Amino acid sequence: MEKSTIFLDFYGTIVNKDSFGIFLRRLGIGSLKPKYLRNAVKGLKEMSMDNRLVLISNQAAIGYGIIQDKDFKQLLERFDAEMKEKGIIFDGIYYCPHRISEKCPCRKPEPGMLEKAVQELKIELNSGWMIGDQTCDISLGKNKNLQTILVTTGYAGNDGHYKDKPDYVAADLYNASQIIKFIKFSKEEKND
Ligand SMILES: [Zn+2]
Repeated sequence: MEKSTIFLDFYGTIVNKDSFGIFLRRLGIGSLKPKYLRNAVKGLKEMSMDNRLVLISNQAAIGYGIIQDKDFKQLLERFDAEMKEKGIIFDGIYYCPHRISEKCPCRKPEPGMLEKAVQELKIELNSGWMIGDQTCDISLGKNKNLQTILVTTGYAGNDGHYKDKPDYVAADLYNASQIIKFIKFSKEEKND
């Protein structure tokens, strides 16, 4: 199967939001351990078999000084290492540390973070996917002509920020992986 690129949100999509754990870390206590959502690792494993994976995460909590950049980096390094142990390769991991009021070009649904990945990783956006639990993820995906999947973990799209509707809705990342597999298969079958 042709490799597509899947852009994934982090908190509420792959792992449980644990701002408090990261906050505690600032005080020198607690650990920076990713807390995986149900079926997230299983789904990523499936997706990684015939797709490229890229993480794009909004982290305004850094800009507000609630969590420290170095702590979040450490959490992501641990996440990346745990993924590699399971044979799941992320081609790129990106995050926007800016405050909402800074109106930066990289905070989703702005396309800066995704465009940076496209350029650095030489991504072909054609037949790409965007998966997330918030409407900013779906809005960004739609603007970039990606196929979009809203996962009903995390906010489940109930954040109320943007009106864009996802192409598909999945209960978790494993369901999302099966939707992608099916759609890709259907398209290849048509081209036979
Ligand atoms: Zn930013």
